[in-house]
Amino acid sequence: MHVNALQIVTRKIEPVMEVQTKVVDYMTGYMVGKGFKWLLPVMLSSITDPLWPDPAAEEALKPPEVEVYGEKLRLMHSMILHKQMAVAMGIDKLFILSPNIRLEGRSADDGRHAYEFTQLDFEMAHASMDDAMGLIEGLISGLFREMRDPVGEILGREVPKVKAPFKRFTLEEIKAEFGSEEKASEEMEEPFWVTDIEREFYDREDPERPGHFRNYDLYLPEGYGEVSSGGEREWEYDVIVRKMKKAGISLDAFRPYLEVARAGLLRPSAGAGIGVERLVRYMVGAKHIAEVQPFPRIPGVPAVI
Ligand code: AMP
Ligand code: MG
Repeated sequence: MHVNALQIVTRKIEPVMEVQTKVVDYMTGYMVGKGFKWLLPVMLSSITDPLWPDPAAEEALKPPEVEVYGEKLRLMHSMILHKQMAVAMGIDKLFILSPNIRLEGRSADDGRHAYEFTQLDFEMAHASMDDAMGLIEGLISGLFREMRDPVGEILGREVPKVKAPFKRFTLEEIKAEFGSEEKASEEMEEPFWVTDIEREFYDREDPERPGHFRNYDLYLPEGYGEVSSGGEREWEYDVIVRKMKKAGISLDAFRPYLEVARAGLLRPSAGAGIGVERLVRYMVGAKHIAEVQPFPRIPGVPAVI
């Protein structure tokens, strides 16, 4: 990979940024057009996404801490908990371009992981998983359509025509049919969904089918893998506490969030985060996510610039 500043600065990345500009322009325009409020990101907080338990996580990650006016604050893993609290404020439909830091180990360097990346992260009050999946399907199929001509002109790459709704599989079905999500991504020619994944406490367990989860991941074809994760959310204090305890998560580390939940202020919602660099990587057909980052952030490798 890129080892020194000169190699980084002399790469040909301008065409990639041209594609990225169109991608971000389309995605933000789509959300604004659907009536979403555009929030600005939070980067430091006393609470962030535990990213645990998650079958996709190789280990329990610890967010870096920064001392701010004598208090320890954490750099954001994701804004999931802040999204829920923004919905509690009465902002019914919101999105953020959210910068996230996740210090994964060298083994996470699979071409798809960066330790600093951006999500288009959205949340909608009182929405179902079908609402959120439909919104993403509209966004992705519209984006693919919009990008066909420019990506062809700028890079000579053909963006496939895709048709929503995308195929849905449960995680169990994917494993039975393909062996793994990654294998499915290599074999499929269109984006597809994986649903019903047991993971972090905030993703909603189906009250009618305990042990099943009302969440969803979107995968890209051609082996590009996961590009979005989301779910309906838990909002009831008792349920949240029970699931945190089951996961071995310290309640104390989530005090302000639990305070809001205990006061009954969290509301039902659904949402997702879409990885911007992963989407751009797919659009330009890059082998490694570092190729779409002007300043690469590769797990296990300290940044040069
Ligand atoms: P998550 O909810 O943890 O799945 O994160 C939401 C989305 O952010 C994922 O579906 C990816 O598109 C993107 N993402 C997560 N981790 C990384 C990473 N290490 N590097 C780049 N993108 C990521
Ligand atoms: Mg995920």
